[in-house]
Amino acid sequence: MPARTLVRVLRPQLPTIGTLKPYIERIDGARIYSNYGPLSREFGERLGRMAGAAGTALTANGTSAIELALRLRARQGSLCLMPAFTFIASAHAVCNAGLTPYLADVDAEALVLTTQIAHAALAQAPAQVAAVLVVSAFGAPPDQGAWAQFEADTGIPVVFDAAAAVTALDGIGRQPVCVSLHATKVLGIGEGGAIFSADTALTDEATALTGFGFRSAERVSTLRGGNYRISEYAAAVGLAAMDGLPQQTAALRALTAAYASRLQHKAARLQRGAGAQWVTMTLNAIVPASQVQAVTDRMDADRIEWRRWWGLGCHRHPAFADVPRATLRQTDAVAPCVIGLPFHLGLTQDEIDRVVACLP
Ligand SMILES: *Cc1c(COP(=O)(O)O)cnc(C)c1O
Repeated sequence: MPARTLVRVLRPQLPTIGTLKPYIERIDGARIYSNYGPLSREFGERLGRMAGAAGTALTANGTSAIELALRLRARQGSLCLMPAFTFIASAHAVCNAGLTPYLADVDAEALVLTTQIAHAALAQAPAQVAAVLVVSAFGAPPDQGAWAQFEADTGIPVVFDAAAAVTALDGIGRQPVCVSLHATKVLGIGEGGAIFSADTALTDEATALTGFGFRSAERVSTLRGGNYRISEYAAAVGLAAMDGLPQQTAALRALTAAYASRLQHKAARLQRGAGAQWVTMTLNAIVPASQVQAVTDRMDADRIEWRRWWGLGCHRHPAFADVPRATLRQTDAVAPCVIGLPFHLGLTQDEIDRVVACLP
């Protein structure tokens, strides 16, 4: 039998030279390379329109988007309630905003912090909670309505880490929604991010924070910020990526459907709505706990890469082992079962069959 080909878990593909050329030529012509140049402005406007946001602030990456949104909304020195089950960037952003992560559980079915879990965690909080960071589960759209109500009920500001959800958003409320434009995300530009909000005063302030707190053409610092801008070259990649986005999401949707139809009568399941209501750049199978080891053993034996994209939770990372936490019972139970499957447009039907054959 010939050696099995290696099946890769993720193979990012950003715009290639041909689609970039007209945009790079615009940069050559304008000789503006950063500082909210014409391409950045156009990219920010197109991105905001796609998300349904009145205001958009572009940032250097998704982590800095979360950090800046929290700096604008929460008083420093207090706790930020956040789910333990997220990419570790969320916890870094919370700390960089001058807050201490207070880790809470996730719902085992939806894989997200719910308002119910948050209320329970608040009742046991060891100190004042100044903000809640709600994380989208691997690109699923967050429940903005429920969290706006939570903010109204508790007075605690809410910020969304919707890093992987940029193509799943359809209308943005006042609570800032932060996305990542990293190469591995669905609208990849290399490194980049954005804050969306219906509150344009907030996104204007966020934009000022990305450029030394300058609010206008006058070089006067009115806020303590930093340099979190994107260059015109990054915006060029973003504009070209947006041109190709309809084809890209259609292909990812078809790939998700190819998995979904093969999994119909299996115990392993996809996240609710994956491929149908929303699509992103990764795909997870949620596998019954008793079968996880057998599944990963079979994938390893068949040269199929897999990944726990969020590991086993922030509390398992040494850098965050000592932050306060509420009960994490459901996180500990479900995190090992969330297995990132090979998901990229180079996969053949044969390879998808091989992956699914490893799943119960
Ligand atoms: C990717 C990701 C981030 C970080 O985004 P960067 O652009 O890499 O900084 C934060 N949170 C979640 C949930 C992510 O998936």
